[in-house]
Amino acid sequence: TPIIMWFRRDLRLSNHSALAAACKTSRPVIPLFIHDDQSEALGAAPKFRLGLALGSLDETLKEKGSRLILRRGDALEVLRDVIKDTGAGAVNWSRLYDPDAIDRDSRIKETLKDDGIDAQSFAGHLMFEPWTVETKTGGFYKVFTPYWKSVRGRDVATPVSTPSDIAVPENWPESDALDDWQMDAPMQRGRDIVRPFVRLGEAAAQARLGAFIAHIVEGYDESRDMPGEDGTSALSENLSLGEISPAQCWHAGQRAMQEGKRGAETFLKELAWREFAYHLMYHTPRILDQNWREEWQAFPWNEDERRAEVLAWEQGRTGVPFVDAAMRELQVTGRMHNRGRMIVASYLTKHLMCHWRIGQKWFEEHLIDWDPANNAMGWQWAAGSGPDATPFFRIFNPGTQLDRFDKGRDYTRRWIAEGRASPSKDALAYFDAIPRRWGRSPNDDYPEPIVDLSEGRERALDAYRNRDF
Ligand code: FAD
Repeated sequence: TPIIMWFRRDLRLSNHSALAAACKTSRPVIPLFIHDDQSEALGAAPKFRLGLALGSLDETLKEKGSRLILRRGDALEVLRDVIKDTGAGAVNWSRLYDPDAIDRDSRIKETLKDDGIDAQSFAGHLMFEPWTVETKTGGFYKVFTPYWKSVRGRDVATPVSTPSDIAVPENWPESDALDDWQMDAPMQRGRDIVRPFVRLGEAAAQARLGAFIAHIVEGYDESRDMPGEDGTSALSENLSLGEISPAQCWHAGQRAMQEGKRGAETFLKELAWREFAYHLMYHTPRILDQNWREEWQAFPWNEDERRAEVLAWEQGRTGVPFVDAAMRELQVTGRMHNRGRMIVASYLTKHLMCHWRIGQKWFEEHLIDWDPANNAMGWQWAAGSGPDATPFFRIFNPGTQLDRFDKGRDYTRRWIAEGRASPSKDALAYFDAIPRRWGRSPNDDYPEPIVDLSEGRERALDAYRNRDF
């Protein structure tokens, strides 16, 4: 009897425990992706990126003589249908950790077991299962440094090898056509503008990891802060969809460390930040939509998404070059440098005193590397409402940040066209990427600051001082 390999955010063949286990049985494997209400609910950019990833996984499977079956609907119903059609006796999948996926998956596991189906979940999306990392008193970690101390010396399972053979069933069940799902429909700028910036699929992710370790990681301690440089791994989109596993990155980083490459340990630490975000989301799922520190409920956040200042932030025309450059990078590439993310988040939540949820939602709609845990933790970190967050009174000054991290102005020049005699290709691409109704043109004057930076800062600090935290 065949085994169904239910793919979700683990869209690769290498170092894939659930797939390797299925292949080991020598039974026919039915690779399946189900477009259910959870993938349907994705923001425009993550959905567009998922669509590309599914096409790529199908190609990779085809190289092995297999293929990806695509079905749409309620996940349990689809699984039961495919089981009925194929006589499958088992379903394997890799675990996810957000509350909606946990609810769905545990319900499905129970029901399939009652049906007599062997349903098994495997690790893979993380290196450290969230319930296996505990403080001395048996609780979970709320601060990164002790979390890091407790995981840095752990053994991370050696990546399992890619199955050499994936047995195919005698008859394939029906499959939808990927094009019919129109996963790029909500993202009009996707196909033409963002697509060239996408690093798609397992092979490309592996090649990038190799290049990063060979040429970039040595100087990563410094280069990771410079948004004008190609100074980070840029693997977040691949990690987010499981086109590469964190354990593969970790082992490559560890080898680099043993070879004495300077930035390697910092790279491992960043991978651990991702694990920490999942640790927090697993233990306190409210991090996704509520102030993690409850006292922040009383903060006078502005929650009006239609306010002119919010629109200016979204559109990258606040008149603050670092903020605008980063917001435009997001429109054109579907990504934003980490330094940019910290600055635009600080600016929105502090200078503009807007609720972090407004920014979180914008990122969820626009990031091709969107990740529920990293995004929520990042926003609550920047706003000051999260665990181990930057204190609210530490307000990034986007001007000083520019002098420190974009000294030669490579980054702002790359993304801002107005006022320049010969703007860069990317700066101009922004005007093709944005909706026409925004009414912007590269011939506009560069906007005046919508908020005076020191006034905005004082306003935020006053609000903070007047609350009883
Ligand atoms: P590298 O510097 O090469 O780091 C390697 C990997 O480590 C990354 O791919 C990522 O998986 C992980 N990592 C690095 N920094 C962090 C961090 N601060 N928190 C958690 N994991 C980290 N990251 C996402 O993947 N998706 C998001 O939706 C997301 N939203 C964010 C929102 C805000 C407001 C902030 C401040 C940060 C957010 N991050 C998010 C974290 C971080 O900005 C990105 O992971 C990073 O910029 C990705 O680039 P990279 O792959 O080149 O990272």
